[in-house]
Amino acid sequence: MLKLSKIYNFAKNSGMQIQENLVRIKQQIPENVNLVAVSKTKPNEDILEAYAGGQRAFGENKAQEIISKQPELPADIQWHFIGHLQRNKVKYIVPFVHLIHSVDSARLLREINKEAAKINRITDCLLQFHIATEETKFGLDMQEAAEILTSDDFVRMNHINIRGVMGMATFTEDQERVKNEFNKLVSIFKYMKTSFFKEADSFSIISGGMSGDYPLAIEAGCNMIRVGSDIFGERVY
Ligand SMILES: *Cc1c(COP(=O)(O)O)cnc(C)c1O
Repeated sequence: MLKLSKIYNFAKNSGMQIQENLVRIKQQIPENVNLVAVSKTKPNEDILEAYAGGQRAFGENKAQEIISKQPELPADIQWHFIGHLQRNKVKYIVPFVHLIHSVDSARLLREINKEAAKINRITDCLLQFHIATEETKFGLDMQEAAEILTSDDFVRMNHINIRGVMGMATFTEDQERVKNEFNKLVSIFKYMKTSFFKEADSFSIISGGMSGDYPLAIEAGCNMIRVGSDIFGERVY
């Protein structure tokens, strides 16, 4: 099973296949859903092929990788940082990053604000929530998020704009479970919106869903999906 799918993915990824994959996915998703093409581990040529097909939003999960790719590629690419972010790497990505999906602590938020202030920029961020039943995934719970958002510290962070929420569902075949987890993310978004961001129109993003589960994420109400292998083929580490 695994071997066959590997061969299939290899064939799928040759030639103009990246653009075809993008067209196919875009046809499947509603217009209000934003597609982030997750290019981690993939070479710049693959990113340029997607770019030539009109894709502008790309996602990376390693600071080192996004830092080395960004200067080599077109300046109008919107870079999304989707991985766990170490505080000592913040200063390198803040100057160009479009959206940080993975804010999971007050300390990280404070660091982003500090670095953004230095260059007089406002950095768009999502709060990452722990929605999976797996232990290994990062993310806040509601109480932690509420503590951050009601703190005096947060009120003074003028160089951060919280645009919404992000979550990763459990990696499982169990569709019901995945759906429940995305439902949870959407209710977290709604709760946050009414409790803390009622007046903020820019608080509008629900980032959930990857190659294996994005239809379920969209069904639940997510409006941003992060798709890697369905576009670029399987990753080889
Ligand atoms: C790698 C990654 C994705 C994309 O995964 P695929 O299964 O290749 O679509 C999405 N979100 C995050 C946070 C990731 O690290």
